[in-house]
Amino acid sequence: MTDLVPLTGEPLALDLVNTRPRTSGGPVDLIATVEGLRGWLNLQAGRLAGALPEDGEPPLTDDDLAAALAPVHEVREHAAAAIDRARRGLPPPRDALRALNRAQRAAPAVRVLAWDGAAVTAAPRRDGPPGVRLAAALAEAVADLLTDPAVTTVRQCEADDCVMLFLPAHPRRRWCSAARCGNRARVARHYRRRRGLGPDSQEPEQQGPESREPGSERAELAGGRNRP
Ligand SMILES: [Zn+2]
Repeated sequence: MTDLVPLTGEPLALDLVNTRPRTSGGPVDLIATVEGLRGWLNLQAGRLAGALPEDGEPPLTDDDLAAALAPVHEVREHAAAAIDRARRGLPPPRDALRALNRAQRAAPAVRVLAWDGAAVTAAPRRDGPPGVRLAAALAEAVADLLTDPAVTTVRQCEADDCVMLFLPAHPRRRWCSAARCGNRARVARHYRRRRGLGPDSQEPEQQGPESREPGSERAELAGGRNRP
């Protein structure tokens, strides 16, 4: 996995904010372009029902996506500001809340009732240009996270140069991704020991990293390790 592959699997609001990782070359924006946004939306399609074209509808064109860049970036900027404060138990900037409300109001979700032959269905649908629908759906995802009491447990990855945020399913989770930062930290620890600098003084683990089974941080990431 490289730093240029978007991290996914966190709440949608965090996945959105995490499209701006810091790499060895500095901060990058993975959804700065039409191609970048298209790739990210493909990864998130299952979570954006009602905001993306349904089966049988024409797919988003490059023009649609080009028009979506500004509203999506705006939601991301305000999401980052609001989540940064809320996760530390502080009031989010009023501007951010206002902007997130505005984005939702521009294309509210309506539960469209239909009969599928066996039961009544109520799929969420939004009206308006694709970019506006998308921004509204993302702003709603941010609202979901901000109003979840678990927002105060959102953490930043412990790797020095990493700004990724995650919602830990397990309190011992330290990395945004075992494959990305967990491995790098393990290599750095190994290097420090070989140079005789001793183990990382902040290392909370009881056992040495060598005695850990390969992939154990992956298990930790999934909340499967040390579960009480
Ligand atoms: Zn990280």
